[in-house]
Amino acid sequence: MSTDTPGSQSSLHRANLERVLRAVRMAGSLTQAEIARGTGLSAATVSNIVRELKESGTVVVADTSSGGRRARSVSLSGDAGIVVGVDFGHTHLRVAVGNLAHRVLAEESEPLDVDVSAQQGFDRAERMVERLLGQAGFPADKVIGVGLGVPGPIDVETGALGSSAILPGWTGVMPGQELAGRLSMPVHVDNDANLGALGELVWGAGRGLGDLAYIKVASGVGSGLVINNQIYRGPGGTAGEIGHITLDEAGPVCRCGNRGCLETFVGSRYLLNLLNANHPGELSLSKVVRLAQQGDLGCRRVIADAGRQIGMGVATLCNLLNPRRVILGGDLAEAGDLVLSPIRDSVARYAIPSAARQLSVVPGTLGGRAEVLGALALVMSEMGETGGL
Ligand SMILES: [Zn+2]
Repeated sequence: MSTDTPGSQSSLHRANLERVLRAVRMAGSLTQAEIARGTGLSAATVSNIVRELKESGTVVVADTSSGGRRARSVSLSGDAGIVVGVDFGHTHLRVAVGNLAHRVLAEESEPLDVDVSAQQGFDRAERMVERLLGQAGFPADKVIGVGLGVPGPIDVETGALGSSAILPGWTGVMPGQELAGRLSMPVHVDNDANLGALGELVWGAGRGLGDLAYIKVASGVGSGLVINNQIYRGPGGTAGEIGHITLDEAGPVCRCGNRGCLETFVGSRYLLNLLNANHPGELSLSKVVRLAQQGDLGCRRVIADAGRQIGMGVATLCNLLNPRRVILGGDLAEAGDLVLSPIRDSVARYAIPSAARQLSVVPGTLGGRAEVLGALALVMSEMGETGGL
């Protein structure tokens, strides 16, 4: 804990140091010129801070080239600390162990039955974290923090999983407290859409961008909003609920209690219902995508219509936030242009031209790993604020 007077030389230095560290932590590696641009600090200040961080062993500096000119790239030292990501999905549990230099050292995923109790789920997560730390060769005391993803909203005040969570039997569970107690490590919790956004921002299709929206279409429909390099959560933690934009006030009743929400047209349950009659047997969203790619006309139509409706939500988002890029995640993203083209058409039709002009709509590049990598990034993003490295 710093006892510096705010505004004093040393507290200013401390704040500048933290800005440089945060920029490098989130980018993985940056040249000194990029750090100066990203933080607004002068080249001389950045140079001094980098020298200091190098002498303390916090960062490593390597010669590289940038635009044909010699440059020095700065990244965090690999042994500066270990971060752990745990992602509870609708059908899987995935854990990753990484270092602050953005290397994933160990990663594993196993199926998770949606009916599993919270206690069984945490038992398995605890064992998997211990096993992967062993595999990576690091003791538990090297872990700076754990990022935990859950497929539902977290109540900001209480830390409890909200009632509309996708995992039945987990309502009212305090996932962060539960895992922190078991592992004796600090745990940061967030929902899957926010973590998908962070994952793509730091490791995937959003690298180098400070403003983007990640839209996850699965059982539910949610979005993670990155504004100025930070996830925007809102005071109650519910920002980004794009799935509950009203498209038709006389439409089907939604799990939120309203009618005609976007989710009631494009959530996987609704899409699968449309196809049940003509496709007997077990259908899943990824199977629908596969059939569409093989030319099944019904599946192609359902995916195209979903794209148009998602595009209406994206157009609204675009008018409000003007993101540079919208990244589509979840199983539907695997459909590629079958879903992306209708999304782009709707954006062109419904968004104001000045907001749509600079927007690109792309699929995520991390697939099912987006959330667990986002959980690693969550720890990196939060650690400076608690006085850590
Ligand atoms: Zn709704």
